[in-house]
Amino acid sequence: MLGATSKAFFHSLAQIGVLQRMASRYGMAPGGGFARRFIAGESVDEAVGAVKDLPSRGLLLTMDYLGESVGTAVEADAATRDYLGILDSIVRSGIERNVSVKLTQLGLDVDRATCVDNLRRILDPATEHGFFVRIDMENSTYTSVTLKIFETLWDQGYRNIGVVLQSYLMRTDDDVKHLNAMGARVRLVKGAYKEPKSVAYQNKVDVDAAFVRAMERLLDEGTYPAIATHDPNMIDATKRYAAHKGYMRNRFEFQMLFGIRRDLQTSLAAEGYPMRVYVPFGKQWFPYFMRRLGERPANVGFVLRGLVNEK
Ligand SMILES: Cc1cc2nc3c(=O)[nH]c(=O)nc-3n(C[C@H](O)[C@H](O)[C@H](O)COP(=O)(O)OP(=O)(O)OC[C@H]3O[C@@H](n4cnc5c(N)ncnc54)[C@H](O)[C@@H]3O)c2cc1C
Repeated sequence: MLGATSKAFFHSLAQIGVLQRMASRYGMAPGGGFARRFIAGESVDEAVGAVKDLPSRGLLLTMDYLGESVGTAVEADAATRDYLGILDSIVRSGIERNVSVKLTQLGLDVDRATCVDNLRRILDPATEHGFFVRIDMENSTYTSVTLKIFETLWDQGYRNIGVVLQSYLMRTDDDVKHLNAMGARVRLVKGAYKEPKSVAYQNKVDVDAAFVRAMERLLDEGTYPAIATHDPNMIDATKRYAAHKGYMRNRFEFQMLFGIRRDLQTSLAAEGYPMRVYVPFGKQWFPYFMRRLGERPANVGFVLRGLVNEK
């Protein structure tokens, strides 16, 4: 229950504008800033600079331009044009061509057609330049429409796209079967949002059990699945299952968030597992940052230390 309660608490803090303004003053201050542990930078160039050494440590990456829940077509268009610029910057920088996007950043709250048009505006140059594009999963009010949009694009021939499933949702067992049958690439996560018990498991034991079920089915029938977790128990369960089945280590990949369990990131890569780091950047970092605090309230320590150092 602590997980659900702390998630609810930090999610409510994320809605407080004055807190967001204060945080954006200190959080990403040049050379310091308490949020820099989790956020790679406020611009793509800063983020590229922060991840340039990852490949030399055997780590893969996916770049995530932070932003969500835009309310107008103008904002959605601006975010889309930002993403087009980011694709160009990534091509110029020479880092790996892999990005993650959120559909509410592209206008899903405005209307579905606007969102799909904007996503295609990103996918076409991304396809041309050999990018892989992952569609992140947001809260459960968006699950069905996100999977439908993914399937629409898949049916239109886009193959350099992937999607995310959350093990805390009770529907995920069926979604895994469906996406496996399509041959789609799935990132499996536990789920970062506060969800009602009508659609989601509330206890960690049930969320973890569902994660293991989905992981096994993805490793058996999936297409290069991504097992995204910092939980040593989930990582060990995945390694054990793969070994038990005699699967090659490159049949799937592990994924973790920038700045979290960097020790595990390095050790898994050293063991020969593909290990991808999810690299968030941009000015709209507050909601993402609050989700990270919601997952592990002990992270507030970073904030306090960051603020003290700031002084
Ligand atoms: C690559 C990647 C992409 C993701 N994409 C999405 C998405 O599209 N949609 C979505 O809903 N969620 C997404 N998430 C978040 C995910 O759903 C979980 O909320 C998050 O990964 C924490 O869960 P966990 O599996 O690490 O396990 P938990 O059971 O939450 O944590 C297990 C252990 O991991 C460590 N840990 C976990 N979180 C943190 C943290 N914030 N800070 C420090 N240590 C931590 C702690 O040691 C903790 O004891 C993503 C996560 C990753 C790694």
